[in-house]
Amino acid sequence: MRSGRRVVIVGAGPAGLLASISAAEAGARVMLLERGPKMGRKLRLTGKGRCNITNTATVERFIKAFGPNGKFLYGAFSRYFREDVLALLDRMGVPTKAERGGRVFPASDSALDVANALERRALEAGVEVRLNARAKSLLLSDTGEVAGVALYHGTVAAGAVVVATGGLSYPGTGSTGDGYALAQQAGHTVTPTRPALAPILIAERWVGALSGLALKNVEARLMVGDPPVRAAREFGEMLFTHTGVSGPIILTISRHVPLPSSGQRAVLELDLKPAVSREELDRRLIREFARPGKLGPYLRRLMPHALADALVGSLGLDGARPLNQITAAERRTILDALKGLPLHVRGLAPIEEAIVTAGGVALSEVDPRTMMSRRARGLFFAGEVLDLDAETGGYNLQAAFSTGWVAGWAAAQHALSR
Ligand SMILES: Cc1cc2nc3c(=O)[nH]c(=O)nc-3n(C[C@H](O)[C@H](O)[C@H](O)COP(=O)(O)OP(=O)(O)OC[C@H]3O[C@@H](n4cnc5c(N)ncnc54)[C@H](O)[C@@H]3O)c2cc1C
Repeated sequence: MRSGRRVVIVGAGPAGLLASISAAEAGARVMLLERGPKMGRKLRLTGKGRCNITNTATVERFIKAFGPNGKFLYGAFSRYFREDVLALLDRMGVPTKAERGGRVFPASDSALDVANALERRALEAGVEVRLNARAKSLLLSDTGEVAGVALYHGTVAAGAVVVATGGLSYPGTGSTGDGYALAQQAGHTVTPTRPALAPILIAERWVGALSGLALKNVEARLMVGDPPVRAAREFGEMLFTHTGVSGPIILTISRHVPLPSSGQRAVLELDLKPAVSREELDRRLIREFARPGKLGPYLRRLMPHALADALVGSLGLDGARPLNQITAAERRTILDALKGLPLHVRGLAPIEEAIVTAGGVALSEVDPRTMMSRRARGLFFAGEVLDLDAETGGYNLQAAFSTGWVAGWAAAQHALSR
């Protein structure tokens, strides 16, 4: 077979795996290049090792989850969507289940099962996998058409190339932004990258002492500007880290933290008792502060001990203070902290610690029906290397699967027609 018919896929993450499976199923000879020693390294970490594969939400909800750039995905989602990837996994012996918020996981709760199934399907479909093979640059013909890929050792000729190298987050998994340089080499614009779905850094130093503490059923509100306006509100689970806060609701809120260049002030308010109104909670405090007991032990009954102790310290109160000596002003301070503990935002954790990368290959230069470059014929993009990022819930992986599948299929048609 002539090399012109070969499709080379760069990157064996979820996007690259789906691209290689669809290109092989479309009849092309496929080579999958992976710079690391293993395929799908990030995929194996997803969903805390459980892999939130996709979501039961409508296509419209999916599009909304990606913000203003979401509309680009109509083309890919209309060709390959949730049912397709779930059917593929089911055929490979990985049944799935839906949980709260429509999040879909493998029934086994194992991300390894998902990664292994996709790997097996790629090999079964005849994909030639080359591990420890890092693409360095594109081979472009005089007419600007893609002719192959240069590796650090040797070259591979191809009739079409799919760049599925991921973003910049979790570089230990192999995603170090190589695809941006490949895109730029072909004349593409790469919109500035920044962390999305990232832990939030907090100015208050006492927060570090709570590192590892998880809170369930709290409400977090992000207040931005002066006077402050509510930019986001989420209810659910969060986690303290040594430099700030993380966990599902914080990652979702992080998308609304203003860029440092905006100079806007941002404060995260934690409602530790969201099920009770402020008035109700105040009446409860008045009632209970009339009883014998001390402030510290009382607060320890309301919340995790470490948080109660940190709260007393941060408010400048004395935990040994008898409840019935607490003044009305002090009660109001405690009430304010329980219903809206202010944590001053210092910014977002670095991109390496983010779950996804915002920014990437500019969407206006990619055909949404085929994922083919509008700059270089025969060049395709899939997954996080594109300027796409969504909130948590399985949306990011579905975008990688859908764009991967579409890119692989169209790359095969292109290569076979050359
Ligand atoms: C901790 C964590 C948990 C997550 N959990 C979820 C979740 O539950 N649900 C969800 O929807 N999303 C989740 N995400 C996001 C999701 O994992 C990514 O959006 C998705 O993996 C992107 O897929 P991709 O194939 O585009 O890129 P990646 O998964 O980043 O894969 C890119 C691949 O390309 C390879 N590569 C890079 N450069 C080269 C090169 N020059 N030559 C050859 N190979 C190269 C890399 O080694 C890598 O294997 C999570 C992310 C993280 C970090």
